[in-house]
Amino acid sequence: MKILYLLPLVLLAACSSEVPEKSLSESKPTTVVGELVPTTSRYFNFVPTPSILIFSETRDWRHEEGIAGANLAIMKAAKEMGHGYYTTEHSGIFNEKDLARFDVVVFNNMTGDALTPEEETAFAKWQSKGNGTVLLHGAGDDSHQDWDFYHNEVLGATFVSHPMDPQFQEARVEVLAPKHPVMQGLPSEFMATDEWYTFEAVPSDDFIVLAGLDESTYSPVNNAYGDRSDLRMGPKTSDHPIIWARCLGDNQARTVFTAMGHRYETFETTEALLILKNMLNWAAKKTDPESSGCAK
Ligand SMILES: [Zn+2]
Repeated sequence: MKILYLLPLVLLAACSSEVPEKSLSESKPTTVVGELVPTTSRYFNFVPTPSILIFSETRDWRHEEGIAGANLAIMKAAKEMGHGYYTTEHSGIFNEKDLARFDVVVFNNMTGDALTPEEETAFAKWQSKGNGTVLLHGAGDDSHQDWDFYHNEVLGATFVSHPMDPQFQEARVEVLAPKHPVMQGLPSEFMATDEWYTFEAVPSDDFIVLAGLDESTYSPVNNAYGDRSDLRMGPKTSDHPIIWARCLGDNQARTVFTAMGHRYETFETTEALLILKNMLNWAAKKTDPESSGCAK
């Protein structure tokens, strides 16, 4: 009886405790987090240079399967590249000293306001030196809009929703930039099953669209939640980009995003694995020495 009597109070407390994402980050105790990250770990000193930093902190939706599948695929790809790798969910690693070990950062389904303002600045400074960034699936959702640089300059599009009718569907992906290094070895089109994201608009001309979705091959509908059920962006595959890239700043820092990668099964397909390897190699500047993939 006592528990039932208290239940409304508990529920009220739960609701009133909700705070905006940004204030969560701003209240993040950076000094404490800094002590927890590998900066003080002896093991971290054995991480080779260069390495790939695989970061998957989730302060919003957590893609357990996508994170696990991509982590393993990235580790295998890193070995083939002759790179080291390091996985963490502690954003404190985004400081000048630790980032110096890496030439690529993968935001593997990172969601929410994961980095403090100081860590965001450290990332931007590291990237401005010409280092590469790879964004996978949830790293392109709408939970990053507190970080203007990431949302506008690195990602470049605003997520709207994804189908829930059903959630995972097979669709035709068309390669739109067949000469781009990230698309090398892929067929001109292929079928893939994923949770297909829809965005408010295509990325700006600063970005190079590499692949798009044929909306006639799946049902771009979400009747489950949100304000918008019709998720169509347009009849042409170029109307609905799903992979795109950019080179940023004087040092042509390469950044590339794929909206594929909700489930681990994505990273068991030939096409997704090849895209991932190509993205890592291009971001690390191991391919495309002339930066032809930066040209429009
Ligand atoms: Zn997802």
